[in-house]
Amino acid sequence: MTTAPYAWLDEALATIHKANWYRTVQPIAGRPGAEIEQAGQSLLNFGSNDYLGLAGDQRLIQAAIAATQEFGTGSTGSRLITGHRELHRQLEQAIAHLKQTEDALVYSSGYLANLGAIAALVGPKDLILADQYNHSSLKTGAKLSGATVLDYPHADLNALAAYLQEQRPHYRRCLILTDTVFSMDGDLCPLPELLAIAHPFDCMVLVDEAHATGVMGATGAGCVEHLGCTGHPLIQVGTLSKALGSLGGYVAGSASLIDYLRNRSPTWIYTTGLSPADTAAALTAISLVEQEPQRRTQLWHNVQLVQQNLQQLPALVNFSSAARLLPSQSPILCLQLPNAATVLAASQALRQRGILAPAVRPPTVPTSRLRLTIMATHTWEHCHTLINHLGVVVSALSSDSRL
Ligand SMILES: *Cc1c(COP(=O)(O)O)cnc(C)c1O
Repeated sequence: MTTAPYAWLDEALATIHKANWYRTVQPIAGRPGAEIEQAGQSLLNFGSNDYLGLAGDQRLIQAAIAATQEFGTGSTGSRLITGHRELHRQLEQAIAHLKQTEDALVYSSGYLANLGAIAALVGPKDLILADQYNHSSLKTGAKLSGATVLDYPHADLNALAAYLQEQRPHYRRCLILTDTVFSMDGDLCPLPELLAIAHPFDCMVLVDEAHATGVMGATGAGCVEHLGCTGHPLIQVGTLSKALGSLGGYVAGSASLIDYLRNRSPTWIYTTGLSPADTAAALTAISLVEQEPQRRTQLWHNVQLVQQNLQQLPALVNFSSAARLLPSQSPILCLQLPNAATVLAASQALRQRGILAPAVRPPTVPTSRLRLTIMATHTWEHCHTLINHLGVVVSALSSDSRL
């Protein structure tokens, strides 16, 4: 018997190549921002989650340096043993203040916050109802919990209501999971309507505010604020690594919820506390979210400018119906194109023109698309450069006989 236990890896990779799903990494040089450098080429950055442009901000950098000087590089242990600092508590209180919740808990990443919260809240006797387009961390957390998981079609509240009617009585606890800003489409969860439907069924609702925190709502608290749901008894998860420009995640909610998670959430208990640098940078970012609303004003101004111009892009009209700008109420603007090969070609053509516009393909999303993210620090010129080049590139692709 011959054994080649890893031979399947190369076969699997060949399949990935064949489907145009193959992915590689490219280092970026220097600090993050609206303009970046990659492989010696300077690029306009329409691919980052740094919506407010804070990841390269001097004040975050200085806060991280000062915290490192004072507290060192690593936090050396789990929060329950040696890894807890006053700085962590300050950050949790700042998150709770921004979110108008009783308390908050910071995790090493948003991904781990979702895994650890979901696994702590439900188990095999329970039911999870989840939007089909939810982020990977919600899907993985649901699986890990051992609960019965039912996906409802994207934002389809009738389907959710039908599941609740049929299935809710057979389970102990019920947890509804949804992104608020959907990360690969940019549309919003109809949260007030969802809460009204869930209310009579005695359900917990966990919302993922990863792309909303710092971006949506009058004070930057997120989509919960934007949709008028502040104060509802929600489990709010988010990240410190998108608009807040640092690294880490959090859960915000009632004091009992947070107290329970500190005692039962495995991805918080059995992992090292957030580094002093990340903690201090995130704390500074939250104060800037609160003190510099003009960043959000500029961001939304840029979103409107790009969205309105792309909607009118003449080249899109020439394409088949498989090409269109997906509906969005966020800084995530997705240009859906007919297939993975077209999206890759568009992304590559834009790169040659000095624009970073990532191609997002299956299995991440059901249909291939360019996923553009707008930043507060994009200038009027940056936005118009994007619009002009996209017009040319899409027009060239739509007249390409391969389609
Ligand atoms: C990015 C993201 C996460 C994960 O956050 P990290 O801090 O990067 O681990 C979770 N949920 C959604 C919707 C996201 O977009």
